[in-house]
Amino acid sequence: MTQLQYARKGITTPEMVRVAIRENVSPDFVRDEVVRGRLVIPANIRHLAGSGGRPPRMRALRGNGSAHQAVDVDHLTSVTGHPGHGDGARLWVNQTVSQRMAALNDIEMLRGQSAHKRLDPMGIGRMITTKINANIGASPVSSSTDEEVEKLRWAQKYGADTLMDLSTGGNLDACRQAIIDNSTIPIGTVPIYSMIIGRSIEDLDHDTILRIIEHQAAQGVDYFTIHAGVLKENLHLVRNRIAGLVSRGGSMLAKWMIHHNKQNPMYELFDEISAIMREYDVTYSLGDGVRPGCLKDAGDAAQIAELEVLGELTHRAREAGVQVMVEGPGHVPLHEIAWNMQIEQRICDDAPFYVLGPLVTDVFPGYDHITSAIGATEAARAGAAMLCYVTPKEHVGLPKADDVREGCIAYKIAAHAGDVARNVPGARQWDDDLSRARAALNWSKQFELAFDGDRARALHDEDLDVDTDFCAMCGHDWCSVRISKEIVEFASGKAETFQPARPSMSSPGLSAEQQGILRSRGVKHACHSDAVPDAETARQVQQEYVKLNVPR
Ligand code: SF4
Repeated sequence: MTQLQYARKGITTPEMVRVAIRENVSPDFVRDEVVRGRLVIPANIRHLAGSGGRPPRMRALRGNGSAHQAVDVDHLTSVTGHPGHGDGARLWVNQTVSQRMAALNDIEMLRGQSAHKRLDPMGIGRMITTKINANIGASPVSSSTDEEVEKLRWAQKYGADTLMDLSTGGNLDACRQAIIDNSTIPIGTVPIYSMIIGRSIEDLDHDTILRIIEHQAAQGVDYFTIHAGVLKENLHLVRNRIAGLVSRGGSMLAKWMIHHNKQNPMYELFDEISAIMREYDVTYSLGDGVRPGCLKDAGDAAQIAELEVLGELTHRAREAGVQVMVEGPGHVPLHEIAWNMQIEQRICDDAPFYVLGPLVTDVFPGYDHITSAIGATEAARAGAAMLCYVTPKEHVGLPKADDVREGCIAYKIAAHAGDVARNVPGARQWDDDLSRARAALNWSKQFELAFDGDRARALHDEDLDVDTDFCAMCGHDWCSVRISKEIVEFASGKAETFQPARPSMSSPGLSAEQQGILRSRGVKHACHSDAVPDAETARQVQQEYVKLNVPR
């Protein structure tokens, strides 16, 4: 049975309990949200068990007066929020990069029945914290299985809550299994990509579609993007678009429909696909094959016509006992994003909305992690449940590991900003704690609390490798934080538990990774307070600098 079917029977599964722990809410709340269809737990039973694509060992559990089967593993029972979090702020998503790395490097943590790792169940829904997805995947011209597993590691390290393997080249089966067997986060795929390996889209038939979907479900994929909403009778609506169909799956299925003059096979086979997904508890991610690919096309008749079909399919999936979320645009002007969230909630009965960006302008290729993170922030504020990241390589090439990091960080910012704006209980405490450390000029604590403390420490020490009551940006005499801390009328920086151990001390030094960050920034320029042994010398250097450089 699926999580949805269990929830409808009033059974609170171990996976629901684990999601509740991660979100600091009650298990009953999670179960009720699953019944409502507003929260999904993408958790293929084979990935839950870490069974390496084989049938998992199961065990009997009792719940709500009846026995049921569950995978034979014990889920984690603890959760770590940001460093030093209080009881009300125990949010799994607020862990820092260092905390995530410690968990990733623990080979015993989440070891699978036979795979290296197994899934740590997580939830996606607008009533809990906002999640982010990272896309990776080998293409016919670049990358390998090892490289993709390394990208998975980077994505998890930098905060991805789920990951999609969008490989279209290399050994797809081996690469997908390796990713699942090394992942503690849900893995999604777009099965149509595998369906056209070795054949043209026109040759795709119903048997192949069902066989590939069954095969990927048996490997342990947790959610499938299925572009069943692109209908033959709506294709004419894209004629006046600038960008046409920018979804790979949507464009391929449109070509198939025009060639055969038949309805979308994913739509025709929807009930059969649902039956396969139910068996493994794979979650639908109903694909937006007609999503707008530029601002001009946003919110047009083609997009809305597809959304209406996705609303119908949401109900059909739920009736089949399959969990479902819905994918959304794409490219949307900033002022239209909230409206997009509202119509999805209305038309798709509040199924979790999983949006790509959206990009709020089209003219910054090379920086689309930024243009899209702006849209993603607004989407998160307005009710998106998961944000699919965009990397700097969007529109121009295949992301490398570094691009995965940039994309994840941009989207962690968007998701957290959304959680703060939505008043998710406990989300803001992380910000307030870091602000107290900043006001106390406690550099070590500030970097411990920073999401990517390694980078923050490296940038600080690039200019001044002394932790003291100013930094190199303004210098001692102009440091408003230091001045505020000294003024007794203000509370700034006086919280006792946030005081540095000493007012001035040498930096603990940079790790090899932090030194690498600085090397990647090129030759370091001398700074007025650079590399001095203590605060007093830094002040003297600074005064010399002022005498020499500041006109009087
Ligand atoms: S020197 Fe400027 S940037 Fe640095 S801590 Fe003080 S106020 Fe902030």
